Amino acid sequence: MRLSQRVQSLKPSSTIAVTTRARQLRAEGVDVLSFAAGEPDFDTPERIKKAAKAALDSGMTKYTPIPGDPETRGVIARKLTEENRIPGLTPEHVVISSGGKQSLYLIFQALLDPAGGPGEDPPEVLIPTPAWVSYGPQAELAGARVVEIRSDAESGFRIRPEQLRAAITPRSRILILNSPSNPCGTMYSPDEIRALAAVVEEAARTTAPDLVVVTDEMYEKIVYGGIDHFSFGSIPAVAERTITVNGLSKAYAMTGWRIGYAAGSGEFGLRLAKALSKLQGQMTTCIASFFLPAIRVALTECADEVEMMRRAFAARAELMHGMIGTMPGLVCPKPTGAFYVFPDISAHFGKTSAGDRPIASAADFAQALLDEHHIAAVPGEDFLGCGPRCVRFSFACSEEQIEAGMKRVGEFVAGLG
Ligand code: GLU
Repeated sequence: MRLSQRVQSLKPSSTIAVTTRARQLRAEGVDVLSFAAGEPDFDTPERIKKAAKAALDSGMTKYTPIPGDPETRGVIARKLTEENRIPGLTPEHVVISSGGKQSLYLIFQALLDPAGGPGEDPPEVLIPTPAWVSYGPQAELAGARVVEIRSDAESGFRIRPEQLRAAITPRSRILILNSPSNPCGTMYSPDEIRALAAVVEEAARTTAPDLVVVTDEMYEKIVYGGIDHFSFGSIPAVAERTITVNGLSKAYAMTGWRIGYAAGSGEFGLRLAKALSKLQGQMTTCIASFFLPAIRVALTECADEVEMMRRAFAARAELMHGMIGTMPGLVCPKPTGAFYVFPDISAHFGKTSAGDRPIASAADFAQALLDEHHIAAVPGEDFLGCGPRCVRFSFACSEEQIEAGMKRVGEFVAGLG
Protein backbone atom coordinates (compact mmCIF):
# COMPACT_ATOMS: atom_id res chain seq x y z
CA MET A 1 0.00 0.00 0.00
CA ARG A 2 1.20 3.48 -0.79
CA LEU A 3 0.32 5.94 1.97
CA SER A 4 -0.33 9.59 1.20
CA GLN A 5 2.32 12.18 1.98
CA ARG A 6 -0.32 13.80 4.14
CA VAL A 7 -0.48 10.81 6.46
CA GLN A 8 3.22 10.04 6.29
CA SER A 9 4.15 13.50 7.49
CA LEU A 10 1.41 13.67 10.15
CA LYS A 11 2.54 13.43 13.77
CA PRO A 12 0.49 11.03 15.92
CA SER A 13 -1.11 12.65 18.98
CA SER A 14 1.39 12.30 21.82
CA THR A 15 -1.24 12.86 24.52
CA ILE A 16 -3.21 9.91 23.22
CA ALA A 17 -0.04 7.85 22.71
CA VAL A 18 1.17 8.19 26.32
CA THR A 19 -2.32 7.61 27.70
CA THR A 20 -2.63 4.42 25.64
CA ARG A 21 0.84 3.22 26.73
CA ALA A 22 -0.04 3.73 30.42
CA ARG A 23 -3.28 1.81 29.96
CA GLN A 24 -1.42 -1.07 28.26
CA LEU A 25 1.16 -1.29 31.05
CA ARG A 26 -1.57 -1.35 33.66
CA ALA A 27 -3.33 -4.16 31.77
CA GLU A 28 -0.03 -6.06 31.87
CA GLY A 29 -0.04 -5.77 35.66
CA VAL A 30 2.49 -2.93 36.07
CA ASP A 31 1.59 -0.59 38.93
CA VAL A 32 1.50 2.53 36.74
CA LEU A 33 0.13 5.78 38.10
CA SER A 34 -0.97 7.78 35.09
CA PHE A 35 -0.88 11.56 34.95
CA ALA A 36 -1.09 11.46 31.17
CA ALA A 37 -4.76 11.52 30.28
CA GLY A 38 -6.49 14.82 29.70
CA GLU A 39 -9.78 13.38 30.85
CA PRO A 40 -11.74 13.72 34.09
CA ASP A 41 -11.72 10.62 36.28
CA PHE A 42 -15.38 11.30 37.19
CA ASP A 43 -18.17 9.38 35.53
CA THR A 44 -20.68 11.24 33.35
CA PRO A 45 -23.48 12.59 35.60
CA GLU A 46 -26.32 10.11 35.89
CA ARG A 47 -29.05 12.38 34.52
CA ILE A 48 -27.08 12.89 31.29
CA LYS A 49 -26.78 9.14 30.80
CA LYS A 50 -30.47 8.70 31.54
CA ALA A 51 -31.41 11.20 28.83
CA ALA A 52 -29.38 9.28 26.24
CA LYS A 53 -30.83 5.94 27.35
CA ALA A 54 -34.38 7.28 27.20
CA ALA A 55 -33.74 8.66 23.72
CA LEU A 56 -32.46 5.28 22.55
CA ASP A 57 -35.44 3.50 24.07
CA SER A 58 -37.83 5.90 22.38
CA GLY A 59 -36.36 4.93 19.00
CA MET A 60 -34.15 7.95 18.42
CA THR A 61 -31.75 5.99 16.25
CA LYS A 62 -31.82 7.76 12.90
CA TYR A 63 -29.88 10.54 11.19
CA THR A 64 -30.42 14.06 12.45
CA PRO A 65 -29.90 17.32 10.54
CA ILE A 66 -26.16 17.71 9.83
CA PRO A 67 -25.35 20.45 12.40
CA GLY A 68 -27.75 19.02 15.04
CA ASP A 69 -31.47 19.52 15.66
CA PRO A 70 -32.87 23.06 16.13
CA GLU A 71 -33.74 22.44 19.79
CA THR A 72 -30.24 21.42 20.83
CA ARG A 73 -28.57 24.09 18.68
CA GLY A 74 -30.93 26.51 20.40
CA VAL A 75 -29.82 25.41 23.87
CA ILE A 76 -26.18 25.92 22.85
CA ALA A 77 -26.92 29.33 21.29
CA ARG A 78 -28.68 30.37 24.49
CA LYS A 79 -25.76 29.16 26.63
CA LEU A 80 -23.26 31.11 24.50
CA THR A 81 -25.46 34.21 24.59
CA GLU A 82 -26.29 34.21 28.29
CA GLU A 83 -23.17 32.71 29.89
CA ASN A 84 -20.48 33.78 27.45
CA ARG A 85 -22.13 37.08 26.40
CA ILE A 86 -21.46 36.40 22.71
CA PRO A 87 -23.69 38.64 20.55
CA GLY A 88 -25.59 37.77 17.38
CA LEU A 89 -26.23 34.07 17.89
CA THR A 90 -29.28 32.00 16.89
CA PRO A 91 -29.64 28.21 16.61
CA GLU A 92 -28.53 28.52 12.96
CA HIS A 93 -25.11 29.78 14.05
CA VAL A 94 -24.23 26.56 15.90
CA VAL A 95 -22.70 23.37 14.43
CA ILE A 96 -22.42 20.29 16.64
CA SER A 97 -19.65 17.81 15.79
CA SER A 98 -17.98 14.66 17.07
CA GLY A 99 -15.74 16.31 19.66
CA GLY A 100 -13.94 19.63 19.81
CA LYS A 101 -11.27 18.00 17.65
CA GLN A 102 -13.70 17.57 14.77
CA SER A 103 -14.99 21.12 15.18
CA LEU A 104 -11.42 22.40 14.88
CA TYR A 105 -10.63 20.14 11.94
CA LEU A 106 -13.68 21.42 10.06
CA ILE A 107 -12.75 25.03 10.80
CA PHE A 108 -9.21 24.63 9.42
CA GLN A 109 -10.52 22.87 6.34
CA ALA A 110 -13.20 25.52 5.82
CA LEU A 111 -10.93 28.55 6.19
CA LEU A 112 -7.57 27.57 4.74
CA ASP A 113 -6.30 26.86 1.22
CA PRO A 114 -2.86 25.37 0.66
CA ALA A 115 -0.36 27.48 -1.28
CA GLY A 116 -1.51 27.75 -4.90
CA GLY A 117 1.77 26.55 -6.38
CA PRO A 118 5.54 26.37 -5.97
CA GLY A 119 6.97 29.63 -4.73
CA GLU A 120 3.67 30.80 -3.29
CA ASP A 121 3.55 31.29 0.46
CA PRO A 122 1.01 29.22 2.44
CA PRO A 123 -1.52 30.84 4.77
CA GLU A 124 -0.32 31.31 8.33
CA VAL A 125 -1.91 30.03 11.53
CA LEU A 126 -0.69 31.84 14.64
CA ILE A 127 -0.38 29.61 17.68
CA PRO A 128 0.71 30.89 21.09
CA THR A 129 2.94 28.14 22.41
CA PRO A 130 3.19 25.87 24.32
CA ALA A 131 -0.13 24.70 22.86
CA TRP A 132 -2.24 21.58 22.69
CA VAL A 133 -0.73 18.95 20.40
CA SER A 134 -3.43 18.85 17.70
CA TYR A 135 -3.72 22.49 16.60
CA GLY A 136 -0.49 22.50 14.60
CA PRO A 137 -0.93 19.17 12.80
CA GLN A 138 -4.57 19.99 11.94
CA ALA A 139 -3.58 23.40 10.55
CA GLU A 140 -0.77 21.82 8.52
CA LEU A 141 -3.13 19.18 7.14
CA ALA A 142 -5.15 22.04 5.70
CA GLY A 143 -2.01 23.42 4.03
CA ALA A 144 -1.12 26.19 6.48
CA ARG A 145 2.22 27.15 7.96
CA VAL A 146 2.30 27.31 11.75
CA VAL A 147 3.70 30.53 13.20
CA GLU A 148 4.50 30.17 16.88
CA ILE A 149 4.19 33.00 19.36
CA ARG A 150 6.25 31.80 22.27
CA SER A 151 5.72 32.15 25.99
CA ASP A 152 7.41 30.47 28.94
CA ALA A 153 6.88 29.48 32.56
CA GLU A 154 8.24 32.84 33.81
CA SER A 155 5.60 34.79 31.85
CA GLY A 156 2.86 32.49 33.18
CA PHE A 157 2.65 30.99 29.66
CA ARG A 158 0.88 34.08 28.32
CA ILE A 159 1.81 36.01 25.19
CA ARG A 160 1.88 39.81 25.26
CA PRO A 161 -0.04 42.05 22.84
CA GLU A 162 3.20 43.35 21.28
CA GLN A 163 4.27 39.77 20.50
CA LEU A 164 0.97 39.19 18.72
CA ARG A 165 1.30 42.47 16.80
CA ALA A 166 4.80 41.50 15.65
CA ALA A 167 3.66 38.05 14.46
CA ILE A 168 0.75 39.20 12.27
CA THR A 169 1.40 39.47 8.51
CA PRO A 170 -0.89 39.86 5.49
CA ARG A 171 -0.89 36.03 5.28
CA SER A 172 -2.22 35.54 8.82
CA ARG A 173 -5.51 33.74 8.57
CA ILE A 174 -6.15 32.22 11.99
CA LEU A 175 -5.07 33.02 15.55
CA ILE A 176 -5.72 30.23 18.05
CA LEU A 177 -6.43 31.05 21.67
CA ASN A 178 -6.94 28.50 24.43
CA SER A 179 -7.75 29.82 27.89
CA PRO A 180 -7.70 27.98 30.28
CA SER A 181 -4.76 26.33 28.58
CA ASN A 182 -3.97 22.73 27.88
CA PRO A 183 -1.08 21.99 28.65
CA CYS A 184 -0.14 25.03 30.76
CA GLY A 185 -3.05 25.22 33.24
CA THR A 186 -2.90 29.02 33.03
CA MET A 187 -5.43 31.61 31.86
CA TYR A 188 -5.67 35.10 30.39
CA SER A 189 -7.49 37.68 32.50
CA PRO A 190 -10.40 39.57 30.90
CA ASP A 191 -8.16 42.64 30.49
CA GLU A 192 -5.42 40.61 28.83
CA ILE A 193 -7.99 39.19 26.40
CA ARG A 194 -9.26 42.69 25.66
CA ALA A 195 -5.70 43.82 24.94
CA LEU A 196 -5.18 40.94 22.48
CA ALA A 197 -8.55 41.74 20.87
CA ALA A 198 -7.46 45.35 20.33
CA VAL A 199 -4.43 44.09 18.40
CA VAL A 200 -6.62 41.77 16.30
CA GLU A 201 -9.07 44.55 15.58
CA GLU A 202 -6.33 46.93 14.47
CA ALA A 203 -4.60 44.26 12.33
CA ALA A 204 -7.88 43.36 10.67
CA ARG A 205 -8.30 47.03 9.63
CA THR A 206 -4.76 47.27 8.30
CA THR A 207 -2.46 44.31 7.58
CA ALA A 208 -4.60 41.18 7.93
CA PRO A 209 -8.19 41.70 6.79
CA ASP A 210 -8.89 37.95 6.71
CA LEU A 211 -7.69 37.20 10.23
CA VAL A 212 -10.07 34.98 12.23
CA VAL A 213 -9.69 34.05 15.89
CA VAL A 214 -10.47 30.48 16.93
CA THR A 215 -10.92 30.37 20.69
CA ASP A 216 -10.92 26.91 22.24
CA GLU A 217 -12.83 27.25 25.52
CA MET A 218 -13.05 23.56 26.36
CA TYR A 219 -11.89 24.15 29.94
CA GLU A 220 -14.02 27.23 30.70
CA LYS A 221 -15.86 25.55 33.60
CA ILE A 222 -12.72 24.29 35.30
CA VAL A 223 -11.41 27.54 36.82
CA TYR A 224 -10.31 28.07 40.40
CA GLY A 225 -7.50 30.62 40.53
CA GLY A 226 -9.55 33.80 40.96
CA ILE A 227 -9.49 34.71 37.25
CA ASP A 228 -12.89 34.84 35.56
CA HIS A 229 -13.30 33.00 32.29
CA PHE A 230 -13.89 35.58 29.57
CA SER A 231 -14.89 34.80 25.99
CA PHE A 232 -12.99 36.57 23.21
CA GLY A 233 -16.15 36.42 21.08
CA SER A 234 -18.04 38.60 23.57
CA ILE A 235 -16.07 41.68 22.45
CA PRO A 236 -18.27 43.36 19.83
CA ALA A 237 -15.37 44.74 17.74
CA VAL A 238 -14.04 41.22 17.05
CA ALA A 239 -17.20 39.10 17.47
CA GLU A 240 -17.72 38.76 13.72
CA ARG A 241 -14.27 37.31 13.23
CA THR A 242 -14.25 34.98 16.25
CA ILE A 243 -15.20 31.31 16.32
CA THR A 244 -15.87 29.89 19.76
CA VAL A 245 -15.17 26.18 20.05
CA ASN A 246 -16.30 24.19 23.04
CA GLY A 247 -17.61 20.76 23.92
CA LEU A 248 -18.89 18.54 26.70
CA SER A 249 -15.79 16.38 27.25
CA LYS A 250 -14.17 18.14 30.17
CA ALA A 251 -16.89 20.08 32.01
CA TYR A 252 -19.33 17.16 32.05
CA ALA A 253 -16.85 14.25 32.14
CA MET A 254 -17.96 13.07 28.69
CA THR A 255 -14.69 12.52 26.79
CA GLY A 256 -15.83 9.23 25.28
CA TRP A 257 -19.09 10.66 23.96
CA ARG A 258 -17.23 12.93 21.51
CA ILE A 259 -19.37 16.06 21.54
CA GLY A 260 -18.02 19.43 20.39
CA TYR A 261 -19.51 22.55 18.86
CA ALA A 262 -18.52 25.75 17.13
CA ALA A 263 -20.26 29.09 16.62
CA GLY A 264 -19.55 32.61 15.41
CA SER A 265 -21.62 35.80 15.49
CA GLY A 266 -23.85 37.48 12.91
CA GLU A 267 -23.41 37.12 9.13
CA PHE A 268 -19.88 35.78 9.64
CA GLY A 269 -21.22 33.01 11.90
CA LEU A 270 -24.00 32.05 9.49
CA ARG A 271 -21.56 31.67 6.59
CA LEU A 272 -19.25 29.69 8.82
CA ALA A 273 -22.03 27.35 10.02
CA LYS A 274 -23.05 26.64 6.42
CA ALA A 275 -19.45 25.88 5.43
CA LEU A 276 -18.84 23.58 8.41
CA SER A 277 -22.13 21.79 7.76
CA LYS A 278 -21.26 21.26 4.10
CA LEU A 279 -17.97 19.63 5.11
CA GLN A 280 -19.49 17.58 7.92
CA GLY A 281 -22.19 16.36 5.54
CA GLN A 282 -19.45 14.69 3.49
CA MET A 283 -17.61 13.34 6.51
CA THR A 284 -19.67 12.08 9.44
CA THR A 285 -23.12 13.54 8.62
CA CYS A 286 -24.10 14.20 12.21
CA ILE A 287 -23.32 13.12 15.76
CA ALA A 288 -25.09 10.11 17.30
CA SER A 289 -28.73 11.19 17.36
CA PHE A 290 -29.55 9.93 20.87
CA PHE A 291 -26.85 12.21 22.31
CA LEU A 292 -28.85 15.32 21.47
CA PRO A 293 -31.26 15.20 24.44
CA ALA A 294 -28.28 14.38 26.68
CA ILE A 295 -26.52 17.56 25.51
CA ARG A 296 -29.58 19.60 26.48
CA VAL A 297 -29.70 18.02 29.92
CA ALA A 298 -25.97 18.62 30.45
CA LEU A 299 -26.17 22.28 29.51
CA THR A 300 -29.35 23.09 31.43
CA GLU A 301 -29.55 20.76 34.44
CA CYS A 302 -26.05 19.84 35.61
CA ALA A 303 -24.66 22.97 37.26
CA ASP A 304 -24.36 21.17 40.63
CA GLU A 305 -22.35 18.29 39.22
CA VAL A 306 -20.09 20.69 37.33
CA GLU A 307 -19.50 22.66 40.52
CA MET A 308 -18.69 19.50 42.48
CA MET A 309 -16.05 18.55 39.89
CA ARG A 310 -14.67 22.11 39.76
CA ARG A 311 -14.12 22.10 43.52
CA ALA A 312 -12.39 18.74 43.33
CA PHE A 313 -10.06 20.03 40.59
CA ALA A 314 -9.35 23.15 42.64
CA ALA A 315 -8.26 21.06 45.65
CA ARG A 316 -6.16 18.81 43.43
CA ALA A 317 -4.50 21.81 41.76
CA GLU A 318 -3.45 23.08 45.17
CA LEU A 319 -2.10 19.70 46.23
CA MET A 320 -0.31 19.02 42.95
CA HIS A 321 1.30 22.44 42.69
CA GLY A 322 2.34 22.32 46.34
CA MET A 323 4.09 18.96 45.91
CA ILE A 324 5.78 19.95 42.63
CA GLY A 325 6.97 23.12 44.37
CA THR A 326 9.02 21.06 46.84
CA MET A 327 11.03 19.40 44.05
CA PRO A 328 14.35 21.08 43.32
CA GLY A 329 14.76 22.50 39.81
CA LEU A 330 11.09 22.31 38.76
CA VAL A 331 9.65 25.71 37.73
CA CYS A 332 5.88 25.80 37.47
CA PRO A 333 3.34 28.64 37.52
CA LYS A 334 0.36 27.93 39.75
CA PRO A 335 -2.52 26.53 37.71
CA THR A 336 -5.65 28.68 37.58
CA GLY A 337 -7.73 26.58 35.18
CA ALA A 338 -7.99 23.20 33.39
CA PHE A 339 -6.34 20.24 35.13
CA TYR A 340 -2.70 20.36 34.16
CA VAL A 341 0.63 21.49 35.50
CA PHE A 342 3.48 21.96 33.05
CA PRO A 343 6.70 22.28 35.05
CA ASP A 344 9.93 23.31 33.34
CA ILE A 345 12.30 20.46 34.21
CA SER A 346 15.25 21.62 32.09
CA ALA A 347 17.42 22.33 35.15
CA HIS A 348 17.97 18.57 35.21
CA PHE A 349 19.13 18.18 31.62
CA GLY A 350 22.63 16.75 31.50
CA LYS A 351 22.09 14.62 34.60
CA THR A 352 21.63 10.85 34.90
CA SER A 353 18.78 9.02 36.62
CA ALA A 354 19.28 6.60 39.52
CA GLY A 355 18.68 3.83 36.97
CA ASP A 356 21.55 5.20 34.84
CA ARG A 357 19.51 6.80 32.08
CA PRO A 358 20.87 10.04 30.65
CA ILE A 359 18.37 12.92 30.82
CA ALA A 360 18.89 15.22 27.86
CA SER A 361 15.29 16.07 27.01
CA ALA A 362 11.71 16.08 28.31
CA ALA A 363 11.18 12.81 26.43
CA ASP A 364 14.13 11.25 28.32
CA PHE A 365 12.78 12.55 31.63
CA ALA A 366 9.28 11.15 30.98
CA GLN A 367 10.60 7.81 29.73
CA ALA A 368 12.94 7.32 32.71
CA LEU A 369 10.13 8.32 35.09
CA LEU A 370 7.88 5.70 33.50
CA ASP A 371 10.52 2.96 33.41
CA GLU A 372 11.94 3.51 36.89
CA HIS A 373 9.01 4.79 38.95
CA HIS A 374 6.00 3.79 36.83
CA ILE A 375 4.68 7.32 36.49
CA ALA A 376 3.14 8.28 33.14
CA ALA A 377 3.31 11.94 32.07
CA VAL A 378 3.37 13.59 28.64
CA PRO A 379 6.76 14.99 27.57
CA GLY A 380 6.40 18.54 26.27
CA GLU A 381 8.12 18.28 22.87
CA ASP A 382 4.89 18.22 20.84
CA PHE A 383 3.40 21.19 22.68
CA LEU A 384 6.01 23.36 20.89
CA GLY A 385 7.53 26.61 22.15
CA CYS A 386 9.38 25.98 25.41
CA GLY A 387 7.48 22.66 25.65
CA PRO A 388 10.65 20.61 25.08
CA ARG A 389 11.83 21.88 28.49
CA CYS A 390 8.59 20.80 30.22
CA VAL A 391 6.55 17.74 31.16
CA ARG A 392 2.74 17.74 31.48
CA PHE A 393 1.09 16.16 34.50
CA SER A 394 -2.70 15.93 34.47
CA PHE A 395 -4.37 16.01 37.86
CA ALA A 396 -7.67 14.58 36.68
CA CYS A 397 -7.22 11.80 39.24
CA SER A 398 -7.77 11.24 42.96
CA GLU A 399 -5.89 13.09 45.70
CA GLU A 400 -4.55 9.71 46.87
CA GLN A 401 -3.06 9.15 43.44
CA ILE A 402 -1.57 12.65 43.39
CA GLU A 403 0.03 12.09 46.80
CA ALA A 404 1.43 8.67 45.91
CA GLY A 405 2.46 9.72 42.40
CA MET A 406 4.14 12.98 43.30
CA LYS A 407 6.05 11.18 46.04
CA ARG A 408 7.47 8.90 43.35
CA VAL A 409 8.28 11.89 41.11
CA GLY A 410 10.03 13.52 44.08
CA GLU A 411 12.13 10.37 44.60
CA PHE A 412 12.97 10.30 40.90
CA VAL A 413 14.06 13.94 40.92
CA ALA A 414 16.09 13.43 44.10
CA GLY A 415 17.89 10.54 42.39
CA LEU A 416 19.04 12.65 39.43
CA GLY A 417 22.74 13.41 39.57
N1 GLU B 1 -7.29 16.77 25.16
C1 GLU B 1 -6.86 15.69 25.97
C2 GLU B 1 -5.38 15.74 26.25
O1 GLU B 1 -4.75 16.70 25.90
C3 GLU B 1 -7.29 14.38 25.37
C4 GLU B 1 -6.38 13.81 24.38
C5 GLU B 1 -6.33 14.60 23.12
O2 GLU B 1 -7.36 14.72 22.46
O3 GLU B 1 -5.25 15.13 22.86
O4 GLU B 1 -4.85 14.84 26.85
